[in-house]
Amino acid sequence: MTAADIRRLPLSRTAPHDRTGTAAPAARTGGDAREEEGATSPVPGFTGPNLIPNRYRGVSVTPIPDGVPLTEEALREYLLGRDAYRRTRFVIARKHGDFAQVALLHVEHDMQGELFSPVTAVTMLARPDECAFVVDESVDTGIPSDLVRCAREKAPQARVAVIQGRYAHISFVLEPTALRVGVREVVPPEPAKLLDQATRILAVTENLPPMDLVGELTDLADLATRMPDAHYLLPCRGSGGEVPGATVSYLDEHPEKADWTLLGCERSRQIHEWFYGEDPPRVDFCPKRTLERDPPTDGMVLTKCCLQEEHVESGPGWVSVPWGASLEHIREALALLAAQEDPPWAPV
Ligand SMILES: [Zn+2]
Repeated sequence: MTAADIRRLPLSRTAPHDRTGTAAPAARTGGDAREEEGATSPVPGFTGPNLIPNRYRGVSVTPIPDGVPLTEEALREYLLGRDAYRRTRFVIARKHGDFAQVALLHVEHDMQGELFSPVTAVTMLARPDECAFVVDESVDTGIPSDLVRCAREKAPQARVAVIQGRYAHISFVLEPTALRVGVREVVPPEPAKLLDQATRILAVTENLPPMDLVGELTDLADLATRMPDAHYLLPCRGSGGEVPGATVSYLDEHPEKADWTLLGCERSRQIHEWFYGEDPPRVDFCPKRTLERDPPTDGMVLTKCCLQEEHVESGPGWVSVPWGASLEHIREALALLAAQEDPPWAPV
């Protein structure tokens, strides 16, 4: 929001006492399911990382007149008693026409009643020296992962990044962090399919926590070095796999039986047995199998398995989608990982 929606109160109205110290959690608005479950906002008094407002409309950019310094005391005095729009919970205070210095505040007021109501409590969440203002029109500020990525890239030193993104919307993130999600799969195809799909889902999903997708990719040709051979059988030609210096056949073409080593998953082994009546020497490349010898330690893992056809599986710190996962499978999988975060992350 670029327009100020804190308005001057009629002079006859009296500002209430500051009751910041005993303030109840802020009222919640909107239709988010977690809100309807009665979760309480950690603001004010919020001390953890990753505070992101759940609606950009909850953020008001408020010009502060010359003569009012951007200190908690002065801003409290200035804002108390002023009318705030019903949805406003956070105020980004700035000087007129100047974003070089901004401060972030939480305000309380009656959010259930009239369109506007007087501010009854003000809490400074970040001083100007803790805030950075970033303009990046590639960022959708309603997408948590987008917001955090931008904050870490463009304002790595700031405790709070106030970001003006796409559509000129302004939002912020306080102490940005992202859940590391290792994406384990085999390449080619290139780009790595699961990583690419998950990246596209994150880019358009407003209700997933900030995530940092990190490819943990295994190259088919490297797998081949585990069992050196002159002839390899790969699952399908479409993926474009090659093994330098070796003959390569593709199981989906049902080639004439030869002496080869199968680079494939359990499902490929089953198909081989169906076609040829026997098991070949095999390097199992199922990415899900890596969870046994290399369980998630730093963050969580998204992977896939040849034996899953239409369902998503999950366990402690991991989730696995079908080999030919749809975008919807991947959305479900990322939500399952998010649900394992402790404490669970939610926008406030
Ligand atoms: Zn598998």
